[in-house]
Amino acid sequence: MAVSNPYQRFIKNLKDAMEALELPKPERKLLLEPQHEFNKDVSITKDDGTTTKFHAFRVQYNNARGPYKGGIRFHPAADKDEVKALAALMAIKTAVVGIPFGGAKGGVQVDPKTLSTRELEELSRAYIRAFVDHLGPDTDVPAPDVNTTPQIMAWMRDEYEKLTKTYAPAMITGKPLSNDGSRGRDTATARGGFFILEAVIKDQKLKAKNLCVAIQGFGNAGGTMARFLYEAGYTVVAVSDSHGGVYAKDGLDIPEVEKQKEKTGRISGKNLKGAKDVTNEELMELPCDILIPAALDNVITADNAKKIKAKLILEIANGPTTPEADEILGKRKITVIPDVLANSGGVTVSYFEWSQGKSGEQWTDEQVDSELKLVILTAYKDVRREVHRRKIPYRQAAFIVGVQRLVEAMKQSS
Ligand code: NAD
Repeated sequence: MAVSNPYQRFIKNLKDAMEALELPKPERKLLLEPQHEFNKDVSITKDDGTTTKFHAFRVQYNNARGPYKGGIRFHPAADKDEVKALAALMAIKTAVVGIPFGGAKGGVQVDPKTLSTRELEELSRAYIRAFVDHLGPDTDVPAPDVNTTPQIMAWMRDEYEKLTKTYAPAMITGKPLSNDGSRGRDTATARGGFFILEAVIKDQKLKAKNLCVAIQGFGNAGGTMARFLYEAGYTVVAVSDSHGGVYAKDGLDIPEVEKQKEKTGRISGKNLKGAKDVTNEELMELPCDILIPAALDNVITADNAKKIKAKLILEIANGPTTPEADEILGKRKITVIPDVLANSGGVTVSYFEWSQGKSGEQWTDEQVDSELKLVILTAYKDVRREVHRRKIPYRQAAFIVGVQRLVEAMKQSS
């Protein structure tokens, strides 16, 4: 039976890991539900003078390993189950990567494109007013997520500091550099994914210049990943955004694609040498060695998993693969590097930003890069050890590493 609800999908992966670890029943129960779920309606005054309400959420999944940590997304489809699933994934992710945070997530059911800048600022501040009692540098530390930006983080910090009458640069991460942000935060997710990809292909004794890559999503994570791969000599054959994508058998000139996207807001094959337009669905099934979903969840399903030609999938997006697709890909011996490992560079540099906020230090680009590499590659090796020891896929191995660390921390704190 297909598992369609994102939280049920998480629970399936969690239960598999708990089974493999032979956890006793009382420990299993502790991880099946979040520690706290807060839902509130927040109101703003629109530019035309009317008042509008939005559903807002903050889910705190687990804090046994440190303060709750997780982004806030502004999206019309944000709902309780999605936010719960993302909060739970954060708890696993911070444990896999070994940083001293728990897992949380927030969301507002809104299409931010329908708001003016002033309305967006009011909504951001209203979110903090609604949940201020549950947030704080040592309690719960939010960050950007889909459709929330460094500017929004700066407004949220300001509102928090006003309400609590404190100086609190470490209450939120993903802030602009001029507002106590960290160097390297904007490229961290792609950077971390790139380090892992390089380690995987080295393990598989492959060479970058012989490998073709298709990437879905050309935003912060996918666009930056495309540039890193292009610069490192990979052949990036396809990229896409929400309007569709382009494919060039011999490789795309990524700086040209960036220029086009900046100029027209779209990606089109018309003015790119050797390229043709493809749909987002077609992109997933193109001939390539590596497929990188870097946009939406639920894009690799039982329907297209049989047709995917890549031998390696690097999940930069959160939750792109359904459990049914996972099973098919496993049978087809396609390696899937799961989101909780592949995109953990973002939260790792968020941790560096939080530490800098607490100590008042400012790290250099080189410092951020070398610390990130160390943290990410240690996590990769920990997960790979379980893959080899238990002969299981990377997702299962990552969940086993994460759940084991969470349970150990819960035992120490109980
Ligand atoms: P973003 O908003 O910067 O970019 C998203 C990209 O996806 C855009 O290019 C957009 O056009 C494209 N897109 C939207 N709808 C699409 C559709 N229907 N089909 C194909 N493409 C579509 O977001 P981002 O920060 O790059 O995040 C992308 C994914 O990576 C999300 O799943 C997010 O949760 C995950 N992620 C991001 C970070 C980070 O630090 N940015 C960290 C961890 C995970």
